[in-house]
Amino acid sequence: MQYLSTRGRAPQKTFTQILLGGLMEDGGLSLPVQYPQLSAEELAAMRDMNYRELAFSVLSKFADDIPAADLRALVDKTYTAQVYCNGRPDSNAEAITPLREIEPGLFLQELSNGPTLAFKDMAMQLLGNLFEYALAKTGEQLNILGATSGDTGSSAEYAMRGKKGVKVFMLSPHGKMSAFQTAQMFSLQDPNIFNIAVRGVFDDAQDIVKAVSNDLDFKTRYRIGTVNSINWARVVAQVVYYFKGYFAATKSNDEAVSFSVPSGNFGNICAGHIARMMGLPIRKLILATNENDVLDEFFRTGVYRPRGTVETLQTSSPSMDISKASNFERFIFDLVGRDPAVVRELWASVDKGGAFDLSGTPYFPRIEEYGFVSGRSTHGHRLATIRSTQEKYGVMIDPHTADGLKVGLEHREAGVPLVVLETALPAKFEETILEALGQKPWRPEAFDNIETLPQRSLLVDVSVEQVKNIVVTNA
Ligand SMILES: *Cc1c(COP(=O)(O)O)cnc(C)c1O
Repeated sequence: MQYLSTRGRAPQKTFTQILLGGLMEDGGLSLPVQYPQLSAEELAAMRDMNYRELAFSVLSKFADDIPAADLRALVDKTYTAQVYCNGRPDSNAEAITPLREIEPGLFLQELSNGPTLAFKDMAMQLLGNLFEYALAKTGEQLNILGATSGDTGSSAEYAMRGKKGVKVFMLSPHGKMSAFQTAQMFSLQDPNIFNIAVRGVFDDAQDIVKAVSNDLDFKTRYRIGTVNSINWARVVAQVVYYFKGYFAATKSNDEAVSFSVPSGNFGNICAGHIARMMGLPIRKLILATNENDVLDEFFRTGVYRPRGTVETLQTSSPSMDISKASNFERFIFDLVGRDPAVVRELWASVDKGGAFDLSGTPYFPRIEEYGFVSGRSTHGHRLATIRSTQEKYGVMIDPHTADGLKVGLEHREAGVPLVVLETALPAKFEETILEALGQKPWRPEAFDNIETLPQRSLLVDVSVEQVKNIVVTNA
Protein backbone atom coordinates (compact mmCIF):
# COMPACT_ATOMS: atom_id res chain seq x y z
CA MET A 1 0.00 0.00 0.00
CA GLN A 2 1.34 3.40 -1.01
CA TYR A 3 0.31 6.66 0.66
CA LEU A 4 -0.22 9.94 -1.15
CA SER A 5 -0.59 13.48 0.13
CA THR A 6 -3.92 15.30 0.05
CA ARG A 7 -2.02 18.27 -1.45
CA GLY A 8 -0.55 16.12 -4.23
CA ARG A 9 2.97 17.52 -4.18
CA ALA A 10 4.86 15.01 -2.04
CA PRO A 11 6.33 11.66 -3.08
CA GLN A 12 4.31 8.58 -2.16
CA LYS A 13 5.42 6.60 0.88
CA THR A 14 4.87 3.25 2.58
CA PHE A 15 3.15 2.69 5.93
CA THR A 16 6.45 2.37 7.77
CA GLN A 17 7.72 5.57 6.19
CA ILE A 18 4.77 7.62 7.44
CA LEU A 19 4.58 5.89 10.82
CA LEU A 20 6.89 8.27 12.67
CA GLY A 21 6.04 11.40 10.69
CA GLY A 22 3.37 14.08 10.85
CA LEU A 23 2.42 16.22 7.87
CA MET A 24 3.64 15.22 4.42
CA GLU A 25 6.40 17.41 2.90
CA ASP A 26 3.88 19.59 1.05
CA GLY A 27 1.83 20.28 4.17
CA GLY A 28 -0.88 17.74 3.28
CA LEU A 29 -2.09 14.64 5.11
CA SER A 30 -1.36 11.05 4.13
CA LEU A 31 -4.04 8.77 2.70
CA PRO A 32 -3.91 5.39 0.96
CA VAL A 33 -3.70 5.66 -2.84
CA GLN A 34 -6.96 3.72 -2.77
CA TYR A 35 -9.04 2.21 0.03
CA PRO A 36 -8.86 -1.58 0.23
CA GLN A 37 -12.22 -3.09 -0.76
CA LEU A 38 -13.71 -5.96 1.21
CA SER A 39 -15.57 -8.66 -0.68
CA ALA A 40 -18.79 -10.15 0.68
CA GLU A 41 -16.84 -13.33 1.47
CA GLU A 42 -14.22 -11.43 3.46
CA LEU A 43 -16.90 -9.55 5.38
CA ALA A 44 -18.68 -12.81 6.14
CA ALA A 45 -15.46 -14.35 7.44
CA MET A 46 -14.86 -11.37 9.71
CA ARG A 47 -18.18 -11.65 11.53
CA ASP A 48 -16.99 -14.23 14.05
CA MET A 49 -13.50 -12.89 14.59
CA ASN A 50 -12.33 -11.69 17.98
CA TYR A 51 -10.85 -8.19 18.30
CA ARG A 52 -7.25 -9.25 17.68
CA GLU A 53 -8.15 -11.24 14.56
CA LEU A 54 -10.23 -8.36 13.25
CA ALA A 55 -7.45 -5.88 13.96
CA PHE A 56 -4.96 -8.02 12.06
CA SER A 57 -7.35 -8.45 9.10
CA VAL A 58 -7.95 -4.72 8.81
CA LEU A 59 -4.46 -3.44 9.59
CA SER A 60 -2.63 -5.91 7.34
CA LYS A 61 -4.33 -4.26 4.36
CA PHE A 62 -2.82 -0.90 5.29
CA ALA A 63 0.51 -1.90 6.85
CA ASP A 64 1.56 -4.42 4.23
CA ASP A 65 5.24 -3.50 4.51
CA ILE A 66 5.35 -4.98 8.02
CA PRO A 67 5.86 -8.76 7.83
CA ALA A 68 2.55 -10.46 8.66
CA ALA A 69 3.95 -12.46 11.58
CA ASP A 70 5.38 -9.30 13.16
CA LEU A 71 2.13 -7.36 12.72
CA ARG A 72 0.16 -10.22 14.23
CA ALA A 73 2.48 -10.29 17.25
CA LEU A 74 2.15 -6.51 17.72
CA VAL A 75 -1.64 -6.67 17.54
CA ASP A 76 -1.81 -9.68 19.88
CA LYS A 77 0.33 -7.87 22.43
CA THR A 78 -1.78 -4.69 22.22
CA TYR A 79 -5.40 -5.76 22.35
CA THR A 80 -5.58 -7.89 25.48
CA ALA A 81 -8.15 -8.07 28.26
CA GLN A 82 -5.33 -7.10 30.68
CA VAL A 83 -4.78 -3.77 28.90
CA TYR A 84 -8.49 -2.96 28.34
CA CYS A 85 -9.77 -4.05 31.75
CA ASN A 86 -11.01 -0.76 33.24
CA GLY A 87 -14.65 -0.97 32.23
CA ARG A 88 -17.67 -1.34 34.45
CA PRO A 89 -17.55 -4.32 36.79
CA ASP A 90 -20.01 -6.21 34.53
CA SER A 91 -18.13 -5.29 31.36
CA ASN A 92 -16.67 -8.00 29.12
CA ALA A 93 -12.98 -7.12 28.88
CA GLU A 94 -12.25 -9.96 26.43
CA ALA A 95 -14.42 -8.16 23.84
CA ILE A 96 -12.02 -5.12 24.13
CA THR A 97 -14.79 -2.77 22.89
CA PRO A 98 -17.97 -4.42 24.26
CA LEU A 99 -21.41 -3.21 23.17
CA ARG A 100 -24.02 -2.41 25.79
CA GLU A 101 -27.61 -2.52 24.46
CA ILE A 102 -29.43 0.05 26.57
CA GLU A 103 -32.73 -0.43 24.75
CA PRO A 104 -33.59 -2.54 21.70
CA GLY A 105 -31.52 -1.25 18.78
CA LEU A 106 -29.64 1.37 20.82
CA PHE A 107 -26.08 0.57 21.84
CA LEU A 108 -23.15 2.16 23.63
CA GLN A 109 -19.81 0.86 22.39
CA GLU A 110 -17.25 0.97 25.21
CA LEU A 111 -14.05 2.41 23.77
CA SER A 112 -12.87 3.76 27.09
CA ASN A 113 -11.68 0.73 29.02
CA GLY A 114 -7.97 1.28 28.33
CA PRO A 115 -5.30 2.52 30.76
CA THR A 116 -6.37 6.22 30.70
CA LEU A 117 -10.14 5.67 30.44
CA ALA A 118 -10.57 7.43 27.09
CA PHE A 119 -10.90 6.10 23.55
CA LYS A 120 -7.50 7.46 22.54
CA ASP A 121 -5.99 4.39 24.19
CA MET A 122 -7.53 2.24 21.43
CA ALA A 123 -5.02 3.61 18.92
CA MET A 124 -2.25 4.97 21.12
CA GLN A 125 -1.47 1.60 22.73
CA LEU A 126 -0.86 0.15 19.27
CA LEU A 127 1.22 3.17 18.31
CA GLY A 128 3.51 2.59 21.32
CA ASN A 129 4.19 -0.96 20.22
CA LEU A 130 4.59 0.03 16.56
CA PHE A 131 7.08 2.79 17.46
CA GLU A 132 9.17 0.46 19.61
CA TYR A 133 9.18 -2.13 16.82
CA ALA A 134 10.14 0.36 14.09
CA LEU A 135 12.86 2.01 16.19
CA ALA A 136 14.39 -1.32 17.18
CA LYS A 137 14.72 -2.19 13.47
CA THR A 138 16.71 0.93 12.63
CA GLY A 139 18.42 1.38 16.01
CA GLU A 140 17.08 4.93 16.14
CA GLN A 141 15.83 6.94 19.10
CA LEU A 142 12.81 9.21 19.13
CA ASN A 143 11.94 12.06 21.48
CA ILE A 144 8.24 12.75 21.44
CA LEU A 145 7.35 16.34 22.22
CA GLY A 146 3.74 17.27 22.79
CA ALA A 147 1.32 19.61 24.51
CA THR A 148 -1.84 18.40 26.18
CA SER A 149 -4.85 19.75 27.99
CA GLY A 150 -5.57 16.26 29.35
CA ASP A 151 -6.57 13.14 27.41
CA THR A 152 -4.00 12.98 24.61
CA GLY A 153 -0.99 13.48 26.86
CA SER A 154 -1.89 10.81 29.35
CA SER A 155 -2.85 8.39 26.61
CA ALA A 156 0.53 8.94 24.90
CA GLU A 157 2.46 8.55 28.15
CA TYR A 158 0.72 5.30 29.10
CA ALA A 159 1.38 3.99 25.59
CA MET A 160 5.08 4.94 25.55
CA ARG A 161 6.08 4.29 29.17
CA GLY A 162 8.96 1.86 29.39
CA LYS A 163 9.25 1.58 25.59
CA LYS A 164 12.80 1.20 24.30
CA GLY A 165 14.10 3.98 22.06
CA VAL A 166 11.32 6.43 22.98
CA LYS A 167 11.23 9.34 25.41
CA VAL A 168 8.21 11.54 25.98
CA PHE A 169 8.36 15.25 26.85
CA MET A 170 4.79 16.34 27.53
CA LEU A 171 3.88 19.96 28.23
CA SER A 172 0.71 20.85 30.10
CA PRO A 173 -0.69 24.11 31.51
CA HIS A 174 0.35 24.32 35.16
CA GLY A 175 -2.63 23.87 37.49
CA LYS A 176 -5.20 23.80 34.68
CA MET A 177 -5.90 20.07 34.34
CA SER A 178 -8.32 18.25 36.62
CA ALA A 179 -6.85 16.64 39.76
CA PHE A 180 -7.52 13.23 38.25
CA GLN A 181 -5.83 14.04 34.92
CA THR A 182 -2.85 15.59 36.70
CA ALA A 183 -2.47 12.57 38.95
CA GLN A 184 -2.74 10.19 36.01
CA MET A 185 0.19 11.84 34.25
CA PHE A 186 2.39 13.11 37.06
CA SER A 187 2.31 9.88 39.08
CA LEU A 188 4.14 8.01 36.31
CA GLN A 189 7.64 7.22 37.56
CA ASP A 190 9.03 5.71 34.34
CA PRO A 191 12.44 7.18 33.52
CA ASN A 192 11.48 7.79 29.86
CA ILE A 193 8.52 10.05 30.72
CA PHE A 194 9.01 13.78 31.41
CA ASN A 195 6.05 15.90 32.47
CA ILE A 196 6.66 19.60 31.97
CA ALA A 197 4.21 21.98 33.63
CA VAL A 198 4.16 25.39 31.91
CA ARG A 199 3.21 28.51 33.88
CA GLY A 200 0.60 29.49 31.29
CA VAL A 201 -2.43 28.19 29.41
CA PHE A 202 -2.68 25.32 26.93
CA ASP A 203 -2.02 27.58 23.94
CA ASP A 204 1.27 28.73 25.50
CA ALA A 205 2.33 25.09 25.80
CA GLN A 206 1.22 24.42 22.24
CA ASP A 207 3.16 27.45 20.96
CA ILE A 208 6.35 26.22 22.65
CA VAL A 209 5.98 22.85 20.94
CA LYS A 210 5.48 24.59 17.58
CA ALA A 211 8.52 26.81 18.14
CA VAL A 212 10.72 23.84 18.97
CA SER A 213 9.41 21.84 15.98
CA ASN A 214 10.02 24.79 13.65
CA ASP A 215 13.67 24.90 14.69
CA LEU A 216 14.70 22.33 12.09
CA ASP A 217 18.31 22.04 13.32
CA PHE A 218 17.16 21.28 16.84
CA LYS A 219 14.41 18.99 15.60
CA THR A 220 16.82 16.86 13.56
CA ARG A 221 19.61 16.89 16.12
CA TYR A 222 17.37 15.73 18.96
CA ARG A 223 15.14 13.50 16.80
CA ILE A 224 11.93 15.24 17.83
CA GLY A 225 8.67 13.53 16.85
CA THR A 226 4.97 13.88 17.64
CA VAL A 227 1.98 11.62 18.22
CA ASN A 228 -0.80 14.07 17.37
CA SER A 229 -4.16 13.15 15.94
CA ILE A 230 -3.13 13.40 12.28
CA ASN A 231 -0.85 10.39 12.73
CA TRP A 232 -2.10 7.89 10.16
CA ALA A 233 -1.48 4.81 12.32
CA ARG A 234 -3.75 6.30 14.97
CA VAL A 235 -6.54 6.84 12.46
CA VAL A 236 -6.28 3.39 10.94
CA ALA A 237 -6.19 1.62 14.32
CA GLN A 238 -9.56 3.25 15.02
CA VAL A 239 -11.08 1.71 11.88
CA VAL A 240 -11.07 -1.67 13.62
CA TYR A 241 -13.68 -0.93 16.28
CA TYR A 242 -16.23 0.17 13.68
CA PHE A 243 -16.04 -3.37 12.32
CA LYS A 244 -16.33 -4.81 15.81
CA GLY A 245 -19.30 -2.58 16.61
CA TYR A 246 -21.03 -3.36 13.33
CA PHE A 247 -20.84 -7.13 13.80
CA ALA A 248 -21.88 -6.94 17.44
CA ALA A 249 -24.96 -4.84 16.64
CA THR A 250 -26.24 -6.98 13.75
CA LYS A 251 -27.15 -10.58 13.00
CA SER A 252 -26.27 -10.56 9.30
CA ASN A 253 -24.23 -8.52 6.87
CA ASP A 254 -27.41 -7.47 5.05
CA GLU A 255 -28.17 -5.03 7.84
CA ALA A 256 -26.83 -1.49 8.05
CA VAL A 257 -25.82 0.34 11.23
CA SER A 258 -25.49 4.04 12.08
CA PHE A 259 -22.73 5.32 14.36
CA SER A 260 -22.84 8.47 16.45
CA VAL A 261 -19.42 9.96 17.19
CA PRO A 262 -18.52 12.69 19.73
CA SER A 263 -16.09 14.72 17.62
CA GLY A 264 -13.31 17.27 17.92
CA ASN A 265 -10.34 16.79 15.62
CA PHE A 266 -12.31 14.54 13.25
CA GLY A 267 -9.95 11.60 13.94
CA ASN A 268 -12.48 9.15 15.32
CA ILE A 269 -15.18 9.75 12.71
CA CYS A 270 -12.58 9.81 9.92
CA ALA A 271 -11.89 6.18 10.83
CA GLY A 272 -15.62 5.48 10.45
CA HIS A 273 -15.56 7.09 7.02
CA ILE A 274 -12.68 4.83 6.02
CA ALA A 275 -14.48 1.71 7.29
CA ARG A 276 -17.49 2.73 5.20
CA MET A 277 -15.31 3.35 2.12
CA MET A 278 -13.90 -0.18 2.55
CA GLY A 279 -17.43 -1.58 2.22
CA LEU A 280 -18.63 -1.93 5.81
CA PRO A 281 -22.43 -1.39 5.69
CA ILE A 282 -22.56 1.86 7.67
CA ARG A 283 -25.72 3.84 6.98
CA LYS A 284 -25.05 7.13 8.72
CA LEU A 285 -22.04 8.67 10.36
CA ILE A 286 -23.53 11.06 12.89
CA LEU A 287 -21.10 13.76 13.93
CA ALA A 288 -21.75 15.34 17.34
CA THR A 289 -20.07 18.54 18.46
CA ASN A 290 -20.35 20.54 21.66
CA GLU A 291 -20.67 24.35 21.73
CA ASN A 292 -17.51 24.45 19.58
CA ASP A 293 -19.53 23.62 16.49
CA VAL A 294 -17.12 24.26 13.61
CA LEU A 295 -17.90 20.84 12.13
CA ASP A 296 -21.65 20.92 12.68
CA GLU A 297 -21.69 24.25 10.88
CA PHE A 298 -19.88 22.71 7.91
CA PHE A 299 -22.16 19.71 7.55
CA ARG A 300 -25.27 21.89 7.81
CA THR A 301 -24.18 24.84 5.66
CA GLY A 302 -21.09 23.91 3.65
CA VAL A 303 -19.05 26.64 5.37
CA TYR A 304 -15.84 25.54 7.07
CA ARG A 305 -14.67 28.36 9.30
CA PRO A 306 -12.00 27.34 11.81
CA ARG A 307 -12.04 29.53 14.89
CA GLY A 308 -9.22 31.33 16.63
CA THR A 309 -8.27 30.48 20.19
CA VAL A 310 -10.26 33.41 21.60
CA GLU A 311 -13.39 32.08 19.92
CA THR A 312 -12.81 28.56 21.27
CA LEU A 313 -14.99 28.01 24.32
CA GLN A 314 -14.08 26.03 27.40
CA THR A 315 -16.88 23.50 27.85
CA SER A 316 -17.79 20.57 30.06
CA SER A 317 -16.83 18.16 27.26
CA PRO A 318 -13.29 19.58 27.09
CA SER A 319 -11.76 16.97 24.79
CA MET A 320 -13.98 18.29 22.00
CA ASP A 321 -12.96 21.93 22.49
CA ILE A 322 -11.21 22.42 19.19
CA SER A 323 -10.98 25.42 16.93
CA LYS A 324 -9.95 23.58 13.79
CA ALA A 325 -10.31 19.89 12.98
CA SER A 326 -6.90 18.58 12.02
CA ASN A 327 -8.10 15.43 10.20
CA PHE A 328 -10.89 17.13 8.27
CA GLU A 329 -8.73 17.59 5.16
CA ARG A 330 -8.75 13.81 4.71
CA PHE A 331 -12.52 13.74 4.25
CA ILE A 332 -12.58 16.83 2.03
CA PHE A 333 -10.00 15.21 -0.25
CA ASP A 334 -12.43 12.34 -0.85
CA LEU A 335 -15.45 14.67 -1.10
CA VAL A 336 -13.86 16.73 -3.91
CA GLY A 337 -13.13 13.59 -5.92
CA ARG A 338 -9.55 13.24 -4.64
CA ASP A 339 -8.39 16.28 -6.57
CA PRO A 340 -5.37 17.74 -4.73
CA ALA A 341 -5.63 21.01 -6.70
CA VAL A 342 -9.04 21.66 -5.14
CA VAL A 343 -7.71 20.83 -1.65
CA ARG A 344 -4.75 23.18 -2.17
CA GLU A 345 -7.11 25.95 -3.19
CA LEU A 346 -9.44 25.45 -0.21
CA TRP A 347 -6.62 25.28 2.31
CA ALA A 348 -4.81 28.25 0.82
CA SER A 349 -7.33 30.34 2.72
CA VAL A 350 -7.69 28.02 5.76
CA ASP A 351 -3.92 27.97 6.33
CA LYS A 352 -4.01 31.76 6.47
CA GLY A 353 -6.74 31.77 9.10
CA GLY A 354 -9.60 32.04 6.58
CA ALA A 355 -12.59 29.88 5.67
CA PHE A 356 -14.16 28.15 2.65
CA ASP A 357 -17.72 27.65 1.51
CA LEU A 358 -18.83 24.58 -0.48
CA SER A 359 -22.51 25.52 -0.63
CA GLY A 360 -23.44 26.16 -4.23
CA THR A 361 -20.67 23.84 -5.44
CA PRO A 362 -21.32 20.33 -6.79
CA TYR A 363 -19.45 18.96 -3.75
CA PHE A 364 -21.89 19.98 -1.03
CA PRO A 365 -24.80 17.72 -2.09
CA ARG A 366 -22.38 14.77 -2.23
CA ILE A 367 -22.01 14.81 1.54
CA GLU A 368 -25.16 12.73 1.67
CA GLU A 369 -23.54 9.95 -0.38
CA TYR A 370 -20.91 9.69 2.32
CA GLY A 371 -23.52 9.22 5.04
CA PHE A 372 -22.56 12.25 7.13
CA VAL A 373 -25.09 14.14 9.25
CA SER A 374 -24.41 16.30 12.29
CA GLY A 375 -25.72 18.07 15.35
CA ARG A 376 -24.56 20.02 18.38
CA SER A 377 -25.04 19.65 22.09
CA THR A 378 -24.64 22.21 24.87
CA HIS A 379 -23.93 22.08 28.60
CA GLY A 380 -27.66 21.90 29.36
CA HIS A 381 -28.21 19.03 26.90
CA ARG A 382 -25.20 17.25 28.35
CA LEU A 383 -26.48 17.39 31.92
CA ALA A 384 -30.00 16.38 30.86
CA THR A 385 -28.70 13.42 28.84
CA ILE A 386 -26.43 12.20 31.65
CA ARG A 387 -29.43 12.41 33.98
CA SER A 388 -31.96 10.71 31.70
CA THR A 389 -29.52 7.91 30.81
CA GLN A 390 -28.95 7.21 34.48
CA GLU A 391 -32.70 7.28 35.22
CA LYS A 392 -33.91 5.31 32.21
CA TYR A 393 -31.17 2.72 31.84
CA GLY A 394 -29.20 2.83 35.08
CA VAL A 395 -26.07 3.64 33.07
CA MET A 396 -23.73 6.52 33.93
CA ILE A 397 -22.15 8.16 30.88
CA ASP A 398 -19.45 10.80 30.56
CA PRO A 399 -20.11 14.31 29.11
CA HIS A 400 -18.63 13.52 25.66
CA THR A 401 -20.65 10.36 25.28
CA ALA A 402 -23.70 12.38 26.34
CA ASP A 403 -23.13 14.73 23.40
CA GLY A 404 -22.94 11.71 21.10
CA LEU A 405 -26.11 10.17 22.50
CA LYS A 406 -28.08 13.43 22.35
CA VAL A 407 -27.22 14.08 18.70
CA GLY A 408 -27.42 10.39 17.76
CA LEU A 409 -31.02 10.14 18.97
CA GLU A 410 -31.97 13.15 16.82
CA HIS A 411 -30.89 11.22 13.73
CA ARG A 412 -32.07 7.77 14.78
CA GLU A 413 -34.14 5.86 12.20
CA ALA A 414 -36.62 3.09 12.92
CA GLY A 415 -35.20 -0.35 12.20
CA VAL A 416 -31.58 0.84 11.96
CA PRO A 417 -29.39 -0.09 14.93
CA LEU A 418 -27.67 2.98 16.39
CA VAL A 419 -24.25 2.62 18.00
CA VAL A 420 -23.09 5.56 20.12
CA LEU A 421 -19.35 5.54 20.72
CA GLU A 422 -18.49 5.91 24.40
CA THR A 423 -15.28 7.95 24.30
CA ALA A 424 -14.49 8.29 28.01
CA LEU A 425 -15.51 6.94 31.39
CA PRO A 426 -17.41 9.32 33.69
CA ALA A 427 -14.66 9.00 36.35
CA LYS A 428 -12.52 11.41 34.32
CA PHE A 429 -15.07 14.23 34.63
CA GLU A 430 -16.14 14.18 38.25
CA GLU A 431 -17.32 17.81 38.45
CA THR A 432 -19.82 17.56 35.61
CA ILE A 433 -21.17 14.22 36.82
CA LEU A 434 -21.62 15.71 40.28
CA GLU A 435 -23.48 18.65 38.74
CA ALA A 436 -25.72 16.37 36.68
CA LEU A 437 -26.42 13.62 39.19
CA GLY A 438 -25.55 15.01 42.61
CA GLN A 439 -23.19 12.12 43.12
CA LYS A 440 -19.61 11.29 42.24
CA PRO A 441 -18.97 8.88 39.37
CA TRP A 442 -17.88 5.31 40.04
CA ARG A 443 -14.20 4.61 39.50
CA PRO A 444 -12.36 1.55 38.28
CA GLU A 445 -10.67 0.05 41.36
CA ALA A 446 -7.16 0.63 40.06
CA PHE A 447 -7.74 4.41 40.29
CA ASP A 448 -9.09 4.50 43.84
CA ASN A 449 -6.45 6.73 45.41
CA ILE A 450 -4.65 8.02 42.37
CA GLU A 451 -4.62 11.63 43.64
CA THR A 452 -2.56 10.63 46.71
CA LEU A 453 0.28 8.95 44.78
CA PRO A 454 3.64 10.76 44.68
CA GLN A 455 3.89 13.09 41.65
CA ARG A 456 6.82 14.07 39.47
CA SER A 457 6.99 17.05 37.09
CA LEU A 458 9.22 19.92 35.99
CA LEU A 459 7.87 23.45 36.27
CA VAL A 460 8.92 26.00 33.62
CA ASP A 461 7.99 29.50 32.51
CA VAL A 462 6.47 30.19 29.10
CA SER A 463 9.96 29.79 27.66
CA VAL A 464 11.14 27.87 24.61
CA GLU A 465 14.70 27.89 25.98
CA GLN A 466 13.76 26.26 29.27
CA VAL A 467 11.94 23.45 27.44
CA LYS A 468 14.79 22.97 24.99
CA ASN A 469 17.20 22.71 27.94
CA ILE A 470 15.15 19.92 29.46
CA VAL A 471 15.26 18.03 26.16
CA VAL A 472 19.00 18.61 25.76
CA THR A 473 19.71 17.37 29.29
CA ASN A 474 17.53 14.29 29.11
CA ALA A 475 17.34 13.16 25.48
C1 LIG B 1 -10.29 13.16 21.78
C2 LIG B 1 -11.65 12.94 22.30
C3 LIG B 1 -12.80 13.17 21.50
C4 LIG B 1 -12.72 13.73 20.10
O1 LIG B 1 -12.18 12.83 19.18
P1 LIG B 1 -11.60 13.34 17.76
O2 LIG B 1 -10.91 12.17 17.18
O3 LIG B 1 -10.64 14.44 18.11
O4 LIG B 1 -12.74 13.81 16.95
C5 LIG B 1 -14.04 12.90 22.05
N1 LIG B 1 -14.17 12.44 23.31
C6 LIG B 1 -13.09 12.21 24.10
C7 LIG B 1 -13.30 11.74 25.49
C8 LIG B 1 -11.80 12.43 23.63
O5 LIG B 1 -10.74 12.22 24.43
